[in-house]
Amino acid sequence: MAKRILITGAAGFLGSHLCDRFIKEGYDIIGMDNLITGDLKNIEHLFKLDNFEFFHHDITKFIHVPGKLDYILHFASPASPIDYLKIPIQTLKVGSVGTLHCLGLAKEKNARILIASTSEVYGDPQVHPQNEEYYGNVNTIGPRGVYDEAKRFQESITMAYHRFHGLETRIARIFNTYGPRMRLNDGRVIPAFIGQALRGEDLTIFGDGLQTRSFCYVDDQIEGIYRLLLSDYSDPVNIGNPDEITIKDFAEEILKLTGTDQVIVYKELPADDPLKRQPDISRAKEVLGWKPKVSRSEGMKITYNYFKSLSAEELEKSEH
Ligand code: NAD
Ligand code: UDP
Repeated sequence: MAKRILITGAAGFLGSHLCDRFIKEGYDIIGMDNLITGDLKNIEHLFKLDNFEFFHHDITKFIHVPGKLDYILHFASPASPIDYLKIPIQTLKVGSVGTLHCLGLAKEKNARILIASTSEVYGDPQVHPQNEEYYGNVNTIGPRGVYDEAKRFQESITMAYHRFHGLETRIARIFNTYGPRMRLNDGRVIPAFIGQALRGEDLTIFGDGLQTRSFCYVDDQIEGIYRLLLSDYSDPVNIGNPDEITIKDFAEEILKLTGTDQVIVYKELPADDPLKRQPDISRAKEVLGWKPKVSRSEGMKITYNYFKSLSAEELEKSEH
């Protein structure tokens, strides 16, 4: 009998790629989403399949799933700074109450649950690169705190269910991931820069551009999550690509990739924007036998072609 898996946030960027992967592995899938930042277009190709069901549901309300469940992948949450700054209360609620509901459901069904945590639990890190032993440096009352603290609470309650109820839990600390199906207007740096290049606008760097990020291509991320779910490891695992770059150098790379001659303009750095970010992936290598395979240049080519294939209307709509 096929394994049955619930994926929350299924209509989002990562959730939709996870649906594709688990369909490929022969699972029966329930995709759940309230579409607050997601888009049904990301999963409409799955609607015709017998082994895919979609539940339009806000997981901050009690979750009812009939029948058995073997696994839960909890990915519902706004994930881009402009999203969680726009909807701070929903962000806090989905990370806290939403997670509580997912854990309760996992306990009820005796299912294994993997939660999508984030490099943001490290805040503006004082340890570099960030390994899982580092406790982080988060401004609880800053504007980004709504996301970071919801995710930190999410990790705590997940470990409490693991320790107190013996629930099988997995925690993925996901670092900046990119690829097709990101929303062109979600404000994250890759869709932002590519959208600007395609619309013929200047590229906006926040701050001096010397802050760093390390970008992981979506296929690598999905492989890491897949392996973590099936592993027997319950402590958090960083999943990301350690290839670190400054935002300024990255903007130059985008200009080269798109072959456009826009200029770069500098805008104010958002509050609490982390200065450095790079995953230490020693643990993922050791316990999952995983490391990323797709280089930034390969991954960015695929991503650029995806955004280029969107209609002119969508491109126009994505303007802020
Ligand atoms: P996304 O915004 O594309 O997807 C999130 C999905 O969750 C959306 O479809 C949204 O509609 C849904 N959702 C939000 N609140 C909900 C609710 N209350 N009930 C039901 N559905 C709800 O974002 P993403 O990049 O795919 O991120 C997915 C998960 O991965 C998030 O939990 C995020 O925190 C985590 N993550 C992502 C990254 C990344 O780089 N993409 C990095 C770290 C962590
Ligand atoms: N950034 C930028 N210009 C933009 C969007 C983002 O310079 O138009 C910067 C942002 O300030 C941050 C980095 O790019 O330092 C990555 O931002 P993103 O929102 O993608 O993710 P974060 O890692 O901050 O959550």
